Amino acid sequence: MQIYNTLSKRKEEFVPIEPGKVRMYVCGPTVYNLIHIGNARPMIVFDTCRRYMEHKGYEVNYVSNFTDVDDKIIKKANEEGVDPSVISERYIAECKKDMSHMNVKPATTHPKATEEIDGMLQMIQTLIDKGHAYVAKDGTVYFRTRSFKEYGKLSHKNLDDLQGGNRSLLVSGEDQKEDSLDFVLWKPKKEGEPYWESPWCNGRPGWHIECSVMSKKYLGEEIDIHAGGEDLVFPHHENEIAQSEAANGKTFAKYWMHNAFLNIDNKKMSKSLGNFFTVRDISEKYDLQVLRFFMLSAHYRSPLNFSAELMEAAKNGYERIVSCVENLKYLEQNTTLSSATKEEEELIARIQSFEEKFDAAMDDDLNTADALSAIFELVKFANTNAKAESSKELLQALREKIVELSDICGLIVEKDAELLDSEVEALIEERTMARKNKDFARADAIRQELLDKGIVLEDTREGVKWHRNF
Ligand code: AMP
Ligand code: ZN
Repeated sequence: MQIYNTLSKRKEEFVPIEPGKVRMYVCGPTVYNLIHIGNARPMIVFDTCRRYMEHKGYEVNYVSNFTDVDDKIIKKANEEGVDPSVISERYIAECKKDMSHMNVKPATTHPKATEEIDGMLQMIQTLIDKGHAYVAKDGTVYFRTRSFKEYGKLSHKNLDDLQGGNRSLLVSGEDQKEDSLDFVLWKPKKEGEPYWESPWCNGRPGWHIECSVMSKKYLGEEIDIHAGGEDLVFPHHENEIAQSEAANGKTFAKYWMHNAFLNIDNKKMSKSLGNFFTVRDISEKYDLQVLRFFMLSAHYRSPLNFSAELMEAAKNGYERIVSCVENLKYLEQNTTLSSATKEEEELIARIQSFEEKFDAAMDDDLNTADALSAIFELVKFANTNAKAESSKELLQALREKIVELSDICGLIVEKDAELLDSEVEALIEERTMARKNKDFARADAIRQELLDKGIVLEDTREGVKWHRNF
């Protein structure tokens, strides 16, 4: 498999450090709100990478963190008058729900920053001991950027060009830094903020240190793949490399993968710009499998512009696969012929070629757009060749291959039997009763259960209305 490595700026053959195993770390979200569909892009893309590698036979140890201590979380907690952990736990739970509806597998480990403070204190101490970090007057600990000779190797930036030029490196207490390029490892607490004791001051970690520490703890000092959105290349990943390599004396990660942005009106979708849709917003209108399909319909390193038209196209594409599978299943249940005929055996042998096309696309730096095209070609082949008089063997072989390839993309194309209208109405009635009895937990659970089956409820003045997503 070829992977584009941000470090070398070219595609490289993927060779794992340990044969048969992949150690992979993906920077996760800061949890102060529902995730938006921009955040969903790396989740879906790298989950697909993981699934494909598992399909190839690798055992993948996949770690993705939750940043649960951060200015925005603290701000929100203060607004609501609750502890920051109430905010972060709430949105971790919501994020996991969204992930599950997008069919993103849970990571092998989902560490949280606040539970890894000891490891951070240790790594910071090591950096101080090795001369790569220093403690300023107020107890802030800074990384001495120029002490790490390879700084800039990931983002291909030159230290002298950065000097004083990049405001994102400047933080408060600037005057106490030895050099404007130095960045914070540990900072003193402010009034009303959570803090931890440390040898330097009561305070909390800078953002970058958590990933270096969690990656080391759960995957080891050297890992195969480190991934995230392209905005993380600089400074976040550059700083992670500096911290990890300066502390451990080893190459931190072999391959660096970065997804391009999901844009809206050709601008980055982000919380700070306010131009975003949450995954939850989208789930009101579409099955989240459609969102997944939409994300995979472009190569992960190409910017993707979100629009209603493209979502409709994704819906049509996804439904084309689903209805082909449904049709094959129907024919399978009704055919009287079990074994393949001579001609059908030839058709079955040809199915393999679609898988080869699919694999070739995925092997080429995870080209999911071409991989989906290979699935479509197989769907077309199935639609042309599956007939009422086809054998069960042929129908099954076609269906199984479509389901298998879709599953590698994390697309669920074989649906459970749909709820009957009467069953939907009974559940709505039960939800209405639950709400009358103020059992909101049950009411919410019913709404979610229906949503999972593609049924969307709308509370209107005339009562509850509902429709099927597809
Ligand atoms: P954040 O919560 O902002 O730290 O983001 C979590 C992950 O989502 C990171 O890997 C970001 O690079 C990624 N991300 C955020 N916004 C977008 C976007 N509009 N398109 C693609 N990836 C994004
Ligand atoms: Zn990170």
